[in-house]
Amino acid sequence: MLPVVSHATGVYVYDQEGLEYLDGCSGAINVNLGHSVPEVTSRMHEQIDRACYAYRTQFRSQPLMRLTELLVELAPGDLKHVEYCNSGSEAIEMALRLATLIHARAYRPFKCTVLTEEPSYHGMTAGALGASGHPLRRQNLTPLLANQATVSRVRPKHGSLRAGVHDWEAAIERIGPANLSAVMIEPVGGASSGAVPTAPETLRRLRELADQHQFLLIADEVMSGLGRTGRWFGCEHAGITPDVMVLGKGISAGFAPIAALLASDKVADAAGQPLGTLLFGHTMAGTPLSAAAGLAVVEYLKAHDVPAHAAEAGEHLHELLQGLRQRHRVISDVRGVGMQMALGVHSDASRFPGTSLDLVEAARREGLLLYPSGVSPALESVMVAPPLVSTDTELDELAVRLDRALTRLSPAAPVADAS
Ligand code: PMP
Repeated sequence: MLPVVSHATGVYVYDQEGLEYLDGCSGAINVNLGHSVPEVTSRMHEQIDRACYAYRTQFRSQPLMRLTELLVELAPGDLKHVEYCNSGSEAIEMALRLATLIHARAYRPFKCTVLTEEPSYHGMTAGALGASGHPLRRQNLTPLLANQATVSRVRPKHGSLRAGVHDWEAAIERIGPANLSAVMIEPVGGASSGAVPTAPETLRRLRELADQHQFLLIADEVMSGLGRTGRWFGCEHAGITPDVMVLGKGISAGFAPIAALLASDKVADAAGQPLGTLLFGHTMAGTPLSAAAGLAVVEYLKAHDVPAHAAEAGEHLHELLQGLRQRHRVISDVRGVGMQMALGVHSDASRFPGTSLDLVEAARREGLLLYPSGVSPALESVMVAPPLVSTDTELDELAVRLDRALTRLSPAAPVADAS
């Protein structure tokens, strides 16, 4: 049975029994500023008293307009056209609709295959899941995902989770560039691969190929966006601007449902009409209340230069996790960027007979919340992704609790071949 939450503050969550949990995974890797941030909640209270709701086709709102300006200012390149919705999955659906509609408008309806990575995760709604290389979450849903039969995925090379430039080139060749609507990629993997970063040269080559073959490059920055990787956006590590960028967790930071799609001038021109009227949308999209929360979050990120803090804190976290890897046989590797980190969990039963869920449970018993990731036994991992604002002392405490959890699974011992 799940514990009943009582209250939460900073990096700590408390249940009704009075037990304390250090949030080592920021909820679902979205509570980027920690819990109960007065600079955000006070602005939400103000907005509640002013107007919670206005329908997106009838009104704009001050917080939404200011949030849009801020996102455009922060985003790379000319990603100036912004549409809102409520969740990362919905924003991915919008990106998929946009790619499809643009090609249809240009009399290229056959350009409809979306190429994504395996493993990857882009959301639980049908289109987003159809485009996700996540066998576990797709299980038994094939009838619902039937329209996505044409989706191709780059399979990981044996023993490697990273699809390289040549894997992508081969997949694009196989599908035929004329049939390719979009390539969608997480600049740093999330729940599926467990924080495996995409190599910058791969992103740069995909940018070239997208221009050459007129498919859209969609960056799924639902998890990596707005500071998580130690930069404002994951794409910045490769210095590229995608055609479409999708944001989610990072904008809402857990305060209110809000997600966004940002599109370039080229995409907006090809759409030929305002994106909102082309894409249609959702009842609760970009409400004044959600926008007020999102605006307060992004202003906080900017005022405190949270991405830079995340870069530094991420280095400290990385050192701590490497130290644990030296001592615990369960961990196969430490990976990730900034504060989007994961521990690979050995699938070899002689080293560890359990699964990543056992580690998550052992951590919970030690008062530490972690996020299980990985799509199959061979790819087991656990994400360690605390709030971006975590202090070194809080990260040290995280490592102490994680050490105890790992000791619960198997007594600490030096690993001979920790290469
Ligand atoms: N894309 C990525 C990269 C994600 O990590 C997630 C959520 N884990 C989603 C999309 C879906 O977002 P949501 O859960 O808000 O629908």
